Amino acid sequence: MPIRVLSQSLINKIAAGEVIERPASVVKELMENAVDAGATRIDVSVAQGGLELVRVVDNGGGISAEELPLAVASHATSKLIEADDLFRVATLGFRGEALASIAEVSRLAIRSRTPDAPGGAELEVVGGRRGEVAPCGGPVGTAVEVHNLFFNTPVRKKFLRTTQTEFGHVAEAFTRIALATHRVHFTLRHNEKTVFELAAADDWRERIARFFGRDLAEQLIWIESEEGGVRLRGFAAHPSRSRSHNRMQYFFLNGRHIRDRSLQHALGESYRGLLLTGRFPIAFLELRMPPESVDVNVHPTKLEVRFQDSGRLYSQLLAALRNKFLSADLDTRVQSPVAGAPRAEFAADYETGGAEASGVDAARAEQLRRNLVDWAKGKVSEWNLPGRSGAEAASQAVMPFKPFPDQRPGLGLYRIDRPVGQVTNLSRESNDRLETRPAPEPAPRYCDCERSAVHHHAAMQIHNRYLIAESEEGVMVIDQHALHERILYEQLRSRVESGALETQTLLVPEPVDLSPAEAAAAFENRDLLAELGMKIEPFGGETVLVSGYPAMLANLSPVEMLHELVGRLLAGGKQPERRDLMDDLLHTIACKAAIKAGDRLAPEEIAALLAQRHLVEDAHHCPHGRPTALIFTREELDRQFKRI
Ligand code: ADP
Ligand code: MG
Repeated sequence: MPIRVLSQSLINKIAAGEVIERPASVVKELMENAVDAGATRIDVSVAQGGLELVRVVDNGGGISAEELPLAVASHATSKLIEADDLFRVATLGFRGEALASIAEVSRLAIRSRTPDAPGGAELEVVGGRRGEVAPCGGPVGTAVEVHNLFFNTPVRKKFLRTTQTEFGHVAEAFTRIALATHRVHFTLRHNEKTVFELAAADDWRERIARFFGRDLAEQLIWIESEEGGVRLRGFAAHPSRSRSHNRMQYFFLNGRHIRDRSLQHALGESYRGLLLTGRFPIAFLELRMPPESVDVNVHPTKLEVRFQDSGRLYSQLLAALRNKFLSADLDTRVQSPVAGAPRAEFAADYETGGAEASGVDAARAEQLRRNLVDWAKGKVSEWNLPGRSGAEAASQAVMPFKPFPDQRPGLGLYRIDRPVGQVTNLSRESNDRLETRPAPEPAPRYCDCERSAVHHHAAMQIHNRYLIAESEEGVMVIDQHALHERILYEQLRSRVESGALETQTLLVPEPVDLSPAEAAAAFENRDLLAELGMKIEPFGGETVLVSGYPAMLANLSPVEMLHELVGRLLAGGKQPERRDLMDDLLHTIACKAAIKAGDRLAPEEIAALLAQRHLVEDAHHCPHGRPTALIFTREELDRQFKRI
């Protein structure tokens, strides 16, 4: 094949492939242009998740009639003049390819007017074919409309997901820019409905509250530091507000939202000992530095950047957060209303233990503070909490912030023992299937177990985390969390399969603030969640109402559980199989609901747990594939003790 120079149209399509992945990319590019134009008000409006229409209207500086054709031409920009400018970019855009790329794969109409022009001008480009500039009326500023994205690139179009999901991405793109520039008035509409109306805010916290809820905003800790021309400002959330994913870590550099592994790592490090493994802090942090000390031209959508001195930045962030945590009185917020005590309506249904914070908790909180101080001074490698070994304590170090662990109402093992048939189906109104079905026959696997195997075997708990028991073959060491998780998982799965999972209808539905992408994922998977007993309703914006909750999770907070499940939904990547998704959610629930390492068990609880070990399939492995028990056979023991 001969070598040919590509046509401009093909070049633009290739560029579009890199920059314009989905409607959200269009929203991002157009909003950035509006911000660059100095707009104080930006209105974004999309139809059908942006597939049908994206419209961005701003009151910025506008484009003159003569320059309109240039604006939609590739490699045409007003933001760079000479090569060196590329290394001191102070605007969001600079490559001059966004409008050309979008126009190549859609029907784009642009209307604009500069302040000194008597009127405006408009121009339409269809699939890269440019029309004539025509005069028009209208206010100063620019309006860009993008219709039928990807109409001429069907392959791209095939990769798009549902309207809800695409809108979720749009909303996330909107969120990032609106968070980065809180002094600009933004609105977002979807299918003619207002989703966000954000007045210009002097206070960043105010903007954050509009997106993520007031109760999160109130638990943010102000972070500030300045070092060698780098200014860091923003918020980190109280450890009790952690997530199972890192998508609530927003970093901004000179007004641009960025992702940066090293900064995320520093953030994670600063919370070390304050969070359980697998949990991620929430933060909103802004960096300001001279544009020449960072290269923003290393990523197609400029999401990633390259810092001149990323090592120093890492230390600066880590130190700023750590110092703040040391002086902040984290403990006083133990009783956050959101992490919440067991709900009253549940308490009636299940036995509850004393709900007072114990003295042990207070002692732990105090110890944790001392640990933090020592750790910051570089003195400790291991945590010390009363009554715990070092490593164990580290994994439990979140204790002082978490109302549950030592106040739990028993272990919920009683719940396991309850024969299925005795459980009332609580969700009469909301689940037709349960309504019409008689309660299923007691599954023999779950009943009568208390007496069966237990009393033959003595078992003891050591370090509040392992159970040691005698078996036919020898000695078993059981991981209490892993085994309970496995039991719950099997039980949940069989109940979901037979449609017998009980939902507790909440007397007062619980509002939960989600991010736009989370809300979209939640509603897209509403049926799946309902099958798991989690009933949600829309409640305006990104707030959802939890109206029903899996009864067997009575002592876990619905808010946390929903965040957890939605986190898993989003982590699933592109279109996972429904079965896999369900399985993943079951694992998540089982893991959250299971007793933890560090929980002291009552003798009956140990007995109940052991009894059911024989009743679940594949009890040797917890759902994550870790073993639930190790067995030392008698022969092995005999051999080790040189008896044979
Ligand atoms: P870039 O932003 O990288 O320069 P774009 O293709 O996004 O490239 O835009 C090309 C040019 O069109 C910009 O440099 C700017 O001069 C002009 N432009 C685009 N959108 C707007 C807007 N909303 N207001 C004013 N000028 C704009
Ligand atoms: Mg641009």
